[in-house]
Amino acid sequence: MSGFDGELRRELEAIRKGGLHRELRRVDSAQSPHIEIAGRTFLNFSSNDYLRLSNHPALKEAAIKAVEKFGAGAGASRLISGSLAPHHELEETLAAFKGTEASISFSTGYAAALGAITAIVGKNDIVILDKLVHASIVDAVRLSGATLRVFAHNDSADLEGKLLWARNLPSVPGKAPKRILVVTESVFSMGGDLASLRGIADLKDKYGAWLMVDEAHATGLFGAHRRGLIEEFDVAGRVEVQLGTLGKACGAAGGYICGSRALIDLLVNRARSFIFSTAPVPAAAAAARAGIEVIQSAEGEVLRQHLWSVVDHLKSALIEAGWALSPIRSAIVPLLIGKEEQATAIAAALRERGVFVPAIRYPTVARGKARLRLTATAAHTISDVAALVNALTSAKALN
Ligand SMILES: *Cc1c(COP(=O)(O)O)cnc(C)c1O
Repeated sequence: MSGFDGELRRELEAIRKGGLHRELRRVDSAQSPHIEIAGRTFLNFSSNDYLRLSNHPALKEAAIKAVEKFGAGAGASRLISGSLAPHHELEETLAAFKGTEASISFSTGYAAALGAITAIVGKNDIVILDKLVHASIVDAVRLSGATLRVFAHNDSADLEGKLLWARNLPSVPGKAPKRILVVTESVFSMGGDLASLRGIADLKDKYGAWLMVDEAHATGLFGAHRRGLIEEFDVAGRVEVQLGTLGKACGAAGGYICGSRALIDLLVNRARSFIFSTAPVPAAAAAARAGIEVIQSAEGEVLRQHLWSVVDHLKSALIEAGWALSPIRSAIVPLLIGKEEQATAIAAALRERGVFVPAIRYPTVARGKARLRLTATAAHTISDVAALVNALTSAKALN
């Protein structure tokens, strides 16, 4: 044992030296604009609970009712005995919300990416990813055995070059024709910028590829019915696979794939993270469904409008304080710092001032691109924004 721990401690030391050490901070309160850590209250600008649904009475009540009727656990994988009514109701609600033929839910968005990608591509196929897609997608492609190519972030010309290369590869004789899958996020999780979905859809049509879009940070916020950026950019009919999480604006936990009936039926048969895993607890499915219902309601629109007004206030206050920001309107507002140590030092100085903001570092973003990632929510107030910007100004002055 001592050899084992000694070796791991050396590795941890190397992580610390690189300014990349991470640790958990225990939160003793619900997720909200104010959280309690070690007996102290912090102003929280770190949560993806964009519409503050995680504490919404309708979600809590749905979870409680599901526990009362279906119990705390799911009992088995969905295909064995755990395909409970709340999972089916969630999937019907999801498909209707997204306007797709069908949907399937997973225990997390990570599991959804892993299950879906490994089900639809394999070692004869090619997957082309935006350089900044989420780790779950990169891991999924590696696991699938498909050939992985990366295009420069949001760069259509580079994507076209990769698609041309892929289309011109000879098919293996006697094997099914190779599949080409393009995957992008719609709102990028660490930069808050938007994928050029129309241009990408044009290219995937031109080269006969398939398109998968991860709407983790767009669902609930964009589009006339708040379905996401696919709706906002009117490309729904051209996206074969829609991926998302139920853990961000939806206020609960879980992941999903939306698409055609054939896609969903195939995933029930082939997605290993679905087949070989106990179903999510009924409370999670019921809460997620209630979250989607709130998003679709008039209240969902009010919450979204409030979120955008918080974002607009936050950005103008930051610009006034001298920060350079992108003009894109998104609930994710990254403040680029650069050096890992400086980002962690500013985050620590912010904590001393009672403000909780994460320093995002490698491997979540590239080395030397460390940043503070501010996320606005519908629950923040204008005075929260003022307090954050004041704390940032003094924390930055020291570092
Ligand atoms: C959070 C996230 C996921 C994973 O979803 P979970 O439900 O948290 O596992 C996938 N893609 C992106 C872009 C994300 O931000």
